[in-house]
Amino acid sequence: MTEVTELARPPRQRKPDWIRVKAPTSEGFAETKRLMREKNLATVCEEAACPNIGECWTKKHATVMILGDTCTRACAFCNVKTGMPRMVDPMEPQHVADVAVQMGLQHIVITSVDRDDLPDGGASQFVKVIRALREQAPDTTIEILTPDFRNKVDRALEMIVEARPDVFNHNLETVPRLYPTIRPGARYYASLRLLETVKKLDPSIFTKSGIMLGLGEQRLEVHQVMDDMRSADIDFLTMGQYLQPTPRHAKVADFVTPQAFDAYAAIARAKGFLLVASSPLTRSSYHAGDDFDRLRAAREARLASAKPQA
Ligand code: SF4
Repeated sequence: MTEVTELARPPRQRKPDWIRVKAPTSEGFAETKRLMREKNLATVCEEAACPNIGECWTKKHATVMILGDTCTRACAFCNVKTGMPRMVDPMEPQHVADVAVQMGLQHIVITSVDRDDLPDGGASQFVKVIRALREQAPDTTIEILTPDFRNKVDRALEMIVEARPDVFNHNLETVPRLYPTIRPGARYYASLRLLETVKKLDPSIFTKSGIMLGLGEQRLEVHQVMDDMRSADIDFLTMGQYLQPTPRHAKVADFVTPQAFDAYAAIARAKGFLLVASSPLTRSSYHAGDDFDRLRAAREARLASAKPQA
């Protein structure tokens, strides 16, 4: 048997200075962690090894991951564990609402693992969580970041839209050419269509999507994704640097500079997104509460400017 030594391992890519973040140590961080453990809730912050966890948890902002901590897919970029998930926890909606109340959240982001094992892909659990939040934390705005509900019961998406989250987010993750290697269980156009359908079903819900950069995509491919998103009437775009969570995951092809992120943001704004967040450390839920307020203000300004002058 070959012994695996440090020397035998492929060298890890050194992160540039603009990616470095401080180790989490604050009281707010400890308090957020305690509450999540007490309520038996998983967070994508921990499961996906998000680099912003120190900053977000200090501000008591976390993205709750419902439907357990085990995903039925195995995307090449994602650190969430893959396998056969546990049964759905009927207390989960109540626990999410408790967290929103106890943390005094103005905005909450709820995401989930992919649950291809469930007939509705977990849609009914999203609905229950939204209802519990509306009842117990009526002032909290709700953002959901969902799987694609591919091959699920007809009304999976409609059920969630009828529950009326404030923001419906579904990430395209990368350019279509890279789907077979990076997101093999998903289909680019199905994901686009999902967001387009949400907007058609209820135009008052903000739609949002994001991609990771640094996976080997070309500049013009990124521009094309932006055009596709605008054709699907998506309001809000996030772009952040892909980071390889472990040596088993897809390698970073390149570290995109902060200046290049700014250049993409300028192009995205010109293409008509209501809001754009683009920087190396941007993640779908990074500063999501502040962004929601800006989104709302941007839409009101657009509606006001579109009104015919008296
Ligand atoms: S950016 Fe999102 S996933 Fe990352 S720590 Fe903040 S809330 Fe969690």
